[in-house]
Amino acid sequence: MSVNGASRPDPVERRGVPAPFPRMQAAEPAIRLKPARRLRGPVVREQEEARPGSDRPAFPFSAIVGQDEMRRALLIAAVDPSIGGVLVFGDRGTGKSTAIRGLAALLPPMETVSGCPYSCDPGRAAEPCPHCAAQSGARTVRSVPVPVVDLPLGATEDRVVGALDLERALTRGEKAFEPGLLARANRGFLYIDEVNLLDDHLVDLLLDVAASGVNTVEREGLSIRHPARFVLVGSGNPEEGELRPQLLDRFGLAVEVTTPTDLPTRIDVVRRRDAYERDPAGFCAGYAKADRAIRRTLTAARARLPGLAVPDATLEAAARLCLALGTDGLRGELTLMRTARALAAYEGVETVGLDHLARIAPSALRHRLRRNPLDESGSTARVARAVEEVLAR
Ligand SMILES: [Zn+2]
Repeated sequence: MSVNGASRPDPVERRGVPAPFPRMQAAEPAIRLKPARRLRGPVVREQEEARPGSDRPAFPFSAIVGQDEMRRALLIAAVDPSIGGVLVFGDRGTGKSTAIRGLAALLPPMETVSGCPYSCDPGRAAEPCPHCAAQSGARTVRSVPVPVVDLPLGATEDRVVGALDLERALTRGEKAFEPGLLARANRGFLYIDEVNLLDDHLVDLLLDVAASGVNTVEREGLSIRHPARFVLVGSGNPEEGELRPQLLDRFGLAVEVTTPTDLPTRIDVVRRRDAYERDPAGFCAGYAKADRAIRRTLTAARARLPGLAVPDATLEAAARLCLALGTDGLRGELTLMRTARALAAYEGVETVGLDHLARIAPSALRHRLRRNPLDESGSTARVARAVEEVLAR
């Protein structure tokens, strides 16, 4: 699969007919991954940053046709990264990677400490990384694009979390830490295509780091802690292996993407993709204003978020919704409340209402449902029904 979503052939061109979208069975017992699909061994692709060495701008986020739920979930995660990542279920070639790259590209550039491999925020001097802690004197600051790091399926744990720099250890006898992909993803996005094919322990580890914002490495005599705040975005096709329910539940949001089935949308997708491929700069210029508007909205939402109130009535409704659906623990309510708040912040309103809950509930809850043998309808339908019953009262 291409690492640069922008260069991927469009699904509509690639496939003659829309594939039926398999419903996610969130609460099924874990199905073991198919051995044939389990990729191990050497890392097949090494390209991690967004378009290294490429002058081609990312496909504009505002030019994406449809996929409203995915776009909204990514925006919400960008407003409040503590929501815990986004899981995107659906067919290949539905623009998942394109959307992430497009979103990262429209975000304001980040100020970082020059030379810091962890892209430390100069404004958060309270938590220096090992690199910055060892520096004295004045720091220089540079501005860099928000990183999008691809985590390849074959990546080893060392590659992900970082490891002893063997070359320095052997040639100079120095014990030094070589930062991994988590260091590069700090303050940006970490994208895992086909996350359901990744080793469970690695997914576990990633979710831990994403939740805490800190990567701790204790091994080979090394003891390192460094900031690793990122929005985790995992994509997967449930037909090819499912995530254990325990892992599913730890993603903040789960969204479904499908190949569009209506004619005008398909034509629009093809037309825009073609225009972009033929003249990327010209195409992007046409959407620059719309992208800037999203950037302004996002920036304002981030500023508004801390002061946004969640009324008791909204919290109570969130709790009743989770009770009605029988979600395990309180993580569902917490995520539902946070995502509704981020949505309200994005929309520029002063309070979080039932309407925000209702709209975000499918994304926040569909992957937390327990299997109900008496109810074979899809999880999205179950959430929609519960929203109707609970919030209408
Ligand atoms: Zn640093």
